[in-house]
Amino acid sequence: MTSAKKSGADSKQAIVIGAGIVGICSALALQEKGFHVSVIDRDGPAEGASYGNSGVISPWSCVPQSLPGLWKSVPKMLLDRSGPLAIRWSYLPRLTPWLVKFISAGAHRRLPATADAMLAVNRPCVEIYNRLLARTGDEGLVRDCLYLHVYRTPGGANRDDLPWRLSRERGVPIEILTGGEVQEVEPELSPQIKSAVVFKQSCRSVNPGRLGKVLAARAEAQGARFLRETVEKIVPGSGGVTRVDTGQGSHSANTVILAAGAWSARLLAPLGVCVPLEAERGYHLMFKQPGLSLAHSIMDMERHCVTSSMETGLRIGGTAEFAGLDAAPDYRRARVFKTHAKALLPNLNTQSSEQWMGARPSTPDSVPFIGAVPGHPRIFCAFGHGHLGLTGAPMTGRMVAALAAGEPLNMDMTPYALDRFNG
Ligand SMILES: Cc1cc2nc3c(=O)[nH]c(=O)nc-3n(C[C@H](O)[C@H](O)[C@H](O)COP(=O)(O)OP(=O)(O)OC[C@H]3O[C@@H](n4cnc5c(N)ncnc54)[C@H](O)[C@@H]3O)c2cc1C
Repeated sequence: MTSAKKSGADSKQAIVIGAGIVGICSALALQEKGFHVSVIDRDGPAEGASYGNSGVISPWSCVPQSLPGLWKSVPKMLLDRSGPLAIRWSYLPRLTPWLVKFISAGAHRRLPATADAMLAVNRPCVEIYNRLLARTGDEGLVRDCLYLHVYRTPGGANRDDLPWRLSRERGVPIEILTGGEVQEVEPELSPQIKSAVVFKQSCRSVNPGRLGKVLAARAEAQGARFLRETVEKIVPGSGGVTRVDTGQGSHSANTVILAAGAWSARLLAPLGVCVPLEAERGYHLMFKQPGLSLAHSIMDMERHCVTSSMETGLRIGGTAEFAGLDAAPDYRRARVFKTHAKALLPNLNTQSSEQWMGARPSTPDSVPFIGAVPGHPRIFCAFGHGHLGLTGAPMTGRMVAALAAGEPLNMDMTPYALDRFNG
């Protein structure tokens, strides 16, 4: 057992499991509350989903993945081998309970509460990132931009559609562009694009992996320890001290934050807590010499992928593939993005590219699990951010650190509870 055991008696000692963007933001927020933090990850900081995402930092995101009637389009999507949705058939029996919850989470009556819960986590992201990046010399890693959802039909962007209605009802600053207005905003877009919904006051990271590493370096400079070990077990002990067993030894602390992304449910199950969490695998293709640059993040609403310029090229990412945590990547899913990217950006040079796969930690209702593990008041969860973990990480850190410090949060935490799908 490491010397962390001795310090485990210190009530301000915390272990964060997972050095993705959620774990890193949690570590920084815990430090602000006076905690001494150790972060344990089998890899370096921001090497999981937090490495290869599309970089959208979207304070206005409040529309869940599951919407009424979505299931009607599923068969068509599944039959299209280059489509945005894929399920490995051998995995379907294990996926079914999650799918049932997913469909029921999209019922009309549930949407307002879900949208409010999503907005509360996502809204403060820009302000917190700017503060965390201040004086690092890497402030330019997060840039102001618009977030454009683009369509190939003039009526595609319809402000009365349910997602935009949900957004407008919450004061989200959206605008509709039609015809050449879209290309005036982003000149490289194909003339085939005929309309767009524009989210103003958004941001994008031009290198999500480096953003995570810069913030981890900040936490380390402030005294955090980053340990490269694989966590095998969380063992609640007496006196409120929890032991975390890894392949290399054991560490103990009074406070443990589980932020292991899509792998979190596996570490939770031995504590007798089962949560519906799926690895929703996504892919990206990175064009290293794109020959053009975008000022904004672009969501292609028909092909369901996001394109954004990065420090190291132009990235197009998307796909929801359900195959479990351990299946090998199917990089055909990334290669189809070449066609999608060309259809969006006709002048794009697609010659040199890199492919990547990562696992989104997805809950049925698109709301993360944030809060104490039932029966274990000093073990806190911070996972399940699905499509929006880069966006939701800063506020999640703030929430989990306040809970750990026993400070009032001034917000209703029930929408994030681990047991909300029980019964
Ligand atoms: C293609 C794609 C595009 C996306 N685009 C966006 C976007 O534009 N905007 C946005 O907001 N979000 C986006 N997302 C979602 C976002 O990337 C994720 O929600 C977010 O990265 C999750 O962060 P995390 O820290 O929870 O998980 P991760 O980044 O996956 O980190 C979890 C960490 O836990 C570690 N770990 C797991 N098990 C163990 C163990 N037993 N022992 C030690 N370490 C362990 C892993 O090594 C990993 O480093 C996208 C995702 C994908 C796949």
